[in-house]
Amino acid sequence: MTIDQNCKIWLKGIFAERAKFDESMAKHTSFRVGGCADAFVEPENIEEMYRVVKRADEKKILWMVVGDGTNLLVKDSGVRGIVISTRKIRRQISMASGGGDLVRVTAAAGTRLSALCRFAIEKGWQGMNFAVGIPGTVGGAIMMNAGTAMGTIQDVIFRIKGLDPSGSARVIEKCDMGFSYRKLSIKGMEKPVILEGSFSLQKGDPGAIKREAEVVLENRRKRQPTGAASAGCFFKNPVSGKSAGELIDLAGLKGKQIGGAKISEKHANFIINTGDGTAADIMALMETVQEEIYNTFDIKLEPEVKIVG
Ligand SMILES: Cc1cc2nc3c(=O)[nH]c(=O)nc-3n(C[C@H](O)[C@H](O)[C@H](O)COP(=O)(O)OP(=O)(O)OC[C@H]3O[C@@H](n4cnc5c(N)ncnc54)[C@H](O)[C@@H]3O)c2cc1C
Repeated sequence: MTIDQNCKIWLKGIFAERAKFDESMAKHTSFRVGGCADAFVEPENIEEMYRVVKRADEKKILWMVVGDGTNLLVKDSGVRGIVISTRKIRRQISMASGGGDLVRVTAAAGTRLSALCRFAIEKGWQGMNFAVGIPGTVGGAIMMNAGTAMGTIQDVIFRIKGLDPSGSARVIEKCDMGFSYRKLSIKGMEKPVILEGSFSLQKGDPGAIKREAEVVLENRRKRQPTGAASAGCFFKNPVSGKSAGELIDLAGLKGKQIGGAKISEKHANFIINTGDGTAADIMALMETVQEEIYNTFDIKLEPEVKIVG
């Protein structure tokens, strides 16, 4: 079910003026495209998150949780139901000793991944440098098993606090997390909401960690169109052989443009919105790339970006 008048009244009861209706998702995604969400809310604490998720689930109202929207392509027709953003669920990053050189760091779902990386670098703790420069929230990074060739969330996470729509908050240990390429599934939780993540890091050499982070960031700036409106790498890399970017480049598609959507000249796996692009432009370019790569290399490229709506 999508939202009706009663649902609007209920949401206003919890969020007052903070409940937004017919909210453009272009404002909440790094692609800067997409139609409206019927309702858009940003709980400021776990209690608000729990109230909205639990009742929406009970009343069979459509809902989805998002972080910073840096891996989302929202269709021009928008999203039905309630979009729940975790961005306001941030507390101070906390830490505990894990014994010896181990440190355990916990961050709420809405914490920026960059803040967590910065925190680790400042303290001289090793383990998060693979994530330097990845935008988005800790919750989004956990759900996406975000990472690079240097490592992924899977390598450092040891515990998650999640919300089960039908129950209450639940602690999920590593043995119940099923990570794969840009994906997490949790045993016994069909539609988990990540509330916080705890990471296992190691005391290291602060100077060396800082220098490594600078190199990682510099390499990103050199290789990726970091300032452009995009969702990062659009396609998943094939399991073996050349990367998606290399295939797109080899197929001569760099710079290809449909409407306001363009294959970046700097990194062929980035589709960028040049300014006035629509989700339909991006989808059309995605399909063109998929067709060309299939015809040329007999490889089916799958989007890494989550398409919603
Ligand atoms: C310039 C650029 C560079 C990028 N580089 C990289 C990279 O190097 N490596 C990489 O892996 N990614 C990269 N990305 C993609 C993106 O930043 C990551 O996937 C990021 O972790 C997504 O976080 P988010 O908060 O924006 O999630 P969103 O885009 O908001 O959501 C992503 C998915 O997670 C779900 N989700 C979000 N939060 C929660 C939660 N709390 N509970 C349950 N589900 C949730 C959403 O429903 C959605 O399915 C890049 C993106 C950009 C724009």
